[in-house]
Amino acid sequence: MIVKVRAGSPEEEIQKLLEIIERWPVKVHRSDGIEHVLLGLVGDTNSVDPTMILSHDIVEDVVRIAEPYKQANRRFHEQDTVIRIGDAEIGGTDFVTIAGPCAVESREQIMTIAKAVKAAGADMLRGGAYKPRTSPYSFQGLGDEGLDLLMEAKAETALPIVTEIMSVNDVDRFAKDVDLIQVGARNMQNFTLLKELGHIRKPILLKRGQSATIEDLLMSAEYIMDGGNTEVVLCERGLRTFENYSRNTLDLGAVPIIKKLSHLPVIVDPSHGSGKRFMVDPLALAAVAAGAHGIIVEVHNDPELALSDGQQSLYPEQFAVLVEKVKAVQDALRKYR
Ligand code: PEP
Ligand code: MN
Repeated sequence: MIVKVRAGSPEEEIQKLLEIIERWPVKVHRSDGIEHVLLGLVGDTNSVDPTMILSHDIVEDVVRIAEPYKQANRRFHEQDTVIRIGDAEIGGTDFVTIAGPCAVESREQIMTIAKAVKAAGADMLRGGAYKPRTSPYSFQGLGDEGLDLLMEAKAETALPIVTEIMSVNDVDRFAKDVDLIQVGARNMQNFTLLKELGHIRKPILLKRGQSATIEDLLMSAEYIMDGGNTEVVLCERGLRTFENYSRNTLDLGAVPIIKKLSHLPVIVDPSHGSGKRFMVDPLALAAVAAGAHGIIVEVHNDPELALSDGQQSLYPEQFAVLVEKVKAVQDALRKYR
């Protein structure tokens, strides 16, 4: 349920209203916008009597939200959520580029790639330490040591680090050392993990499951936000469809849909979204044009020898050209935004 209070209403009147609302078994989330102060009520909203709220002169309207996601809902929070990570801002007017290998493989590998993507203009460094591989016989990642190496790369380049969490046992370490904690497609509905991540105060990159609807994705964001962690970045990374030429079918339509339904930032992963190097560049540019707030791209200095996802990894030189093209598309569209 949303209570729309006229912007500019005296604070003491708002406080009086809050005192009334807090008598019901609901939690109130306040968002101060330009036209309204929105009071988002979650919990047992059936017990709330809207007429008691509407009797306050400062209240313009009381609306029940039909969608099952509330805190992630654009109607709950009119302005875009902007999340600051290092020098980057995701969700505002900046376009954020996250780049790096699928997996951290060695000190030399991650250092080489980190320096290359930094030089090309990346805003953050990605690299998996714990890898969700389909086969138990495939490289599983370096684990804790991989995280140590990412931190070394961060110390060297000053790039914030993005890496995937797979287990609730690692939440403390990730909360301390990782700048943007990735929840991969396979764990998008690991509700135990999502709840734990709701209790920390670090931004979460929530990737869409390969057969998840947009509503499923927003409900997973809701799990994190309900714990109090409101910094969630959503990521479209392709769906499993009947088309089997590409690894996944990238649903770029999800970008405008998510921006309409939610205030949370949305980025695109053209690497897992296609599985093929030659598709990464066109899909990344399409993501910019579709209004995404950023991209996450796999880059490897030696893709032929990569321990995972070599076929979809860009060479560092290709990534550098892509960054230039991304800027060109942004510049072309700037006057319309
Ligand atoms: C990844 O980013 O390396 C990854 C495994 O992505 P996804 O969860 O989207 O498959
Ligand atoms: Mn990968």
